[in-house]
Amino acid sequence: MALHLRGTLLPDGVTKDLWLVGDRVTFRRPAEAAETVADGGFLLPGLVDAHTHPGLREDGGFDVDALAAHRAAGVAVLRCPGLDGPVPDAVRASPQMPRIIAAGAWLAWSGLSEHADFHTVVDDLVGAAVREVRASDGWCKVMADWDFTAAPVPLDLLRATTEAVHAEGGRIAAHCQSAAGSLNAARAGVDSIEHGMALPAEAIPLMAAHGTAYVPTLTAFGKSAPWRARRGLDRDLLWQEGHRTMLTRAREAYEAGVTVLAGTDSLPHGDIVREIEWLIEAGLPTDAALAAASWRARAWLGLPGLTEGGLADVTAYATDPRHDPTALRNPTRIILRGHITH
Ligand SMILES: [Zn+2]
Repeated sequence: MALHLRGTLLPDGVTKDLWLVGDRVTFRRPAEAAETVADGGFLLPGLVDAHTHPGLREDGGFDVDALAAHRAAGVAVLRCPGLDGPVPDAVRASPQMPRIIAAGAWLAWSGLSEHADFHTVVDDLVGAAVREVRASDGWCKVMADWDFTAAPVPLDLLRATTEAVHAEGGRIAAHCQSAAGSLNAARAGVDSIEHGMALPAEAIPLMAAHGTAYVPTLTAFGKSAPWRARRGLDRDLLWQEGHRTMLTRAREAYEAGVTVLAGTDSLPHGDIVREIEWLIEAGLPTDAALAAASWRARAWLGLPGLTEGGLADVTAYATDPRHDPTALRNPTRIILRGHITH
């Protein structure tokens, strides 16, 4: 049976009837019977978390509980720039699970002076990135640096990697925490800069020119701020300063026309509303912060929203979340891939 909804569609603000037939949106009443599951209120294209790591459990299985937490929050799409294993076909195929865009392992060039234990360390960054693009939904994740002060991946290497990925038709996400690493990523024209804790202001116009998105992941850093302040090591102070810088750059990037996206990068999973709130605190208009986790993120990932033939991910709210973001914590209906989950 088809699902029927009537409400004010976002972002257009037009009140309409729409139907979900299987995993598709239509504005033409279908021949088959339809159950009305939302009448009135506001209908938002399903939410997107552009930076999260559902990953593997300790027993080696894929963490479906993490996906369930995202689903419960109304998140219909996950981009995962950094996964420690492949997404099982059964998870991808399940209509109960959010759509997943994998971006493969955390690729770290062996020439960086430090590495984390979760990095996949490679000598040939270009070749590894291209292989990852082929294996991971057209994306790869590269560490542009891994220290606040040490030398980042050299610009020539990062540029060659980006060009090879683009030649393959893929996209490249760059972890950036130093000023030099962030600037190299912006100069190389990567597709997204993740974190950017020391993102220099001069990188913003380069990002705008290259179409590089900014995913600041403010929730993760906001969560650690209190205990870092208590501990107070030099490194903790850099992280705190990094959080303040990300807030400033998120607003500047938005004002410069850069696509700013919501990514939680934190546990417990499913805190996308907190990331929207952080983007509002950073100074984005409320509808832009909402777009960062919904229609703009979907368009950036090539996933249509509430348009004819679009994908059947919808969250409904009693009040307009563009004016009342607290509504986001109280969805009246969540539909994922054409299936009611709330
Ligand atoms: Zn991350």
